[in-house]
Amino acid sequence: MSRTKNPLSNPNKRHGQTNLVHGGGCRSPHGETSEAIFMNSGFTYADSEAAEARFKGENPGFIYSRFSNPTVEMFQDRMALLEGAEAARATATGMAAVTTALMAQVRAGDHVVAARALFGGCRYVVEDFLPRYGVASTLVDGRDPENFAAAMRDNTRAIFLETPTNPTLELVDIAAVARIAHAHGAVLIVDNVFATSIWQKPLALGADLVVYSATKHIDGQGRALAGIILGRRELIEKDVHTIIRQTGPSISPFNAWIMLKGLETLDLRVCRMTRNAERIAAFLADHPGVERIYYPGHPSHPQYELACTQMKGNSNQCGGSSMLAFDVRGGKEAAFRCANALAVILTSNNLGDAKSIISHPATTTHQRFTPQVREEMGIGPGLLRLSVGLEDADDLVADLAFGLDQV
Ligand SMILES: *Cc1c(COP(=O)(O)O)cnc(C)c1O
Repeated sequence: MSRTKNPLSNPNKRHGQTNLVHGGGCRSPHGETSEAIFMNSGFTYADSEAAEARFKGENPGFIYSRFSNPTVEMFQDRMALLEGAEAARATATGMAAVTTALMAQVRAGDHVVAARALFGGCRYVVEDFLPRYGVASTLVDGRDPENFAAAMRDNTRAIFLETPTNPTLELVDIAAVARIAHAHGAVLIVDNVFATSIWQKPLALGADLVVYSATKHIDGQGRALAGIILGRRELIEKDVHTIIRQTGPSISPFNAWIMLKGLETLDLRVCRMTRNAERIAAFLADHPGVERIYYPGHPSHPQYELACTQMKGNSNQCGGSSMLAFDVRGGKEAAFRCANALAVILTSNNLGDAKSIISHPATTTHQRFTPQVREEMGIGPGLLRLSVGLEDADDLVADLAFGLDQV
């Protein structure tokens, strides 16, 4: 009896949540339900001819886990389905993904333009690390796309940005900056950590590469470091793959497996965390002890309209992300008093975790900058950054209300 093929056997005919659970699966002959951990460095060949064929690329099997491994490939394939990317390569950390993605585009004598509001490590790579190897960089205020256009030179090969930015949740118009990059023959690389793929799809908006610290929402449970680079096949499979293969910022199969498990609940977690963040933003916006809130999903955000068009999930609803920040009236002392009084929200510098986390950027993640640079970045002494977790929203609001009462 011939059976007709079920159209849902094609991942492209399934919805996103189904692929987050099943996408990129590669079952071994044992038929395990959960993805297997191929915790091995090398692979054997039936004979020398098979080894020769594999090294020549005539036979697609695995060779060595520095550059390909079945568990890592499952993570890459599932992420590519989520992101709508042709190809992906995972790395040991988010910083390895950022550094590899940038290094793959440039050589000595080239130039990179980046938005100045960047995660500390990313700003180091652009501002201090690349120039050591002869790659100049210009940092611009990313809120106005014209600033990118003005900074472009004949030798500009890449634009790098994150949106929303850390820690002040400024937005960059991805589609507008992609047009500027392409008019100059440069590639646009977007660090999509804060928004996550649930709320923002940079490739669909015109970006060439998207990078993640998978340490954040993709794991989302504070267990392991990981990163990933996604984009067009030709960009990923040539330079990005070669750099990973030859310089070794590779991910452990075990950590790739943790990320696969995290992806199964990514949509559930990010949506719930975002709903919690919206509740908290509304509460803080009306609190007399709070000078100002920074949340793209709140109408008080100066780029609220851009958030509504750029940060849309599958349901076409605007999602302001699980991250927010606020200025406590009274500066550093007041911010410390508020944070120290919290009983549920933890003081830490991680983000995207199931546990809510608060940090004081001026004295931690952005401590190494001069007060003038911090001011340029909008990081005042009373600023607190909050990564909203999966706790009950009433408890989070009550915790913050108590903290602000102690100021
Ligand atoms: C955490 C983070 C990184 C770095 O990721 P690691 O996994 O810690 O190396 C890069 N960009 C952003 C926006 C981040 O939040």
